[in-house]
Amino acid sequence: MNIQTIIKMLTNAGIEEREAKKEVKMLLEHFCNYSEKDEILGHPITEEHIRIIKAKVESRLADRTPVQYIIGESYFMGEFFKVTPDVLIPRPETEILVTKAIEIIKENGLKNILDIGTGSGCIACTIANKTEAVVLGVDISSDALRIALDNVTRLGINNRAVFRKSDLFSKIREEEKFDMIISNPPYIPIGTELEPELKHEPQIALFAEENGLQLYRKIVSEAPNYLNKDGWLIFELGIGESEAVKAFMNEYFDSVNIIKDLNGIDRVIYGRLIG
Ligand code: GLN
Repeated sequence: MNIQTIIKMLTNAGIEEREAKKEVKMLLEHFCNYSEKDEILGHPITEEHIRIIKAKVESRLADRTPVQYIIGESYFMGEFFKVTPDVLIPRPETEILVTKAIEIIKENGLKNILDIGTGSGCIACTIANKTEAVVLGVDISSDALRIALDNVTRLGINNRAVFRKSDLFSKIREEEKFDMIISNPPYIPIGTELEPELKHEPQIALFAEENGLQLYRKIVSEAPNYLNKDGWLIFELGIGESEAVKAFMNEYFDSVNIIKDLNGIDRVIYGRLIG
């Protein structure tokens, strides 16, 4: 048995080869302390390594647990974040959202940011880590907030990203104003058939009513009450939802712009509060 056989176990189960290779690499690094550097230096993968990885791949395939939950970590914008099934695994698409937000924050010297549905806190922590802004992350799930707090501690940015249990704006006071509201809300239409890995993720973080649009509608209509003058609203978008969300935003926001992801899908939308 060698590493190719392990990759084959994954591809035979329907996992794409590129993903399978990535997962094996992640497992080797996490459980065997065997990194890309070891590979380059020609260090051998031992039988013991193979035995360990095989056991992990077997449990991965037994119930299609995402590899990030087995490892307990996920990479996002240069850092490893703690993840458990209480929080969504950060997606590469969300890096487009956070990269744009950071650009706007820096260009305009924004100070106070609100992250709605913060989950693992990966958005809030990355913004706090890479800008001068202070971020409040809110979530309806206390279990998610516990993970977000662990991530803040890991990054050592305890006073710059803070968290509060709140169902959208329910625990935000009207006198608390923000320069930007950011959100990657649940946006998958209820009833959509998904790959089995997603069954392990918190369903509350994935699915939304009104064809996936419910949280956009609610956040857009309340956001103006909590934004400073000329404040920004920025969202990640679900597939095919840009027109509808743009229509919601046009009512209160100016110069609404959309950014596409690498697959040409409208992925991020942002705009500025009409003064
Ligand atoms: N981007 C996730 C997916 O496509 C969904 C996350 C969300 O609903 N915000 O699986």
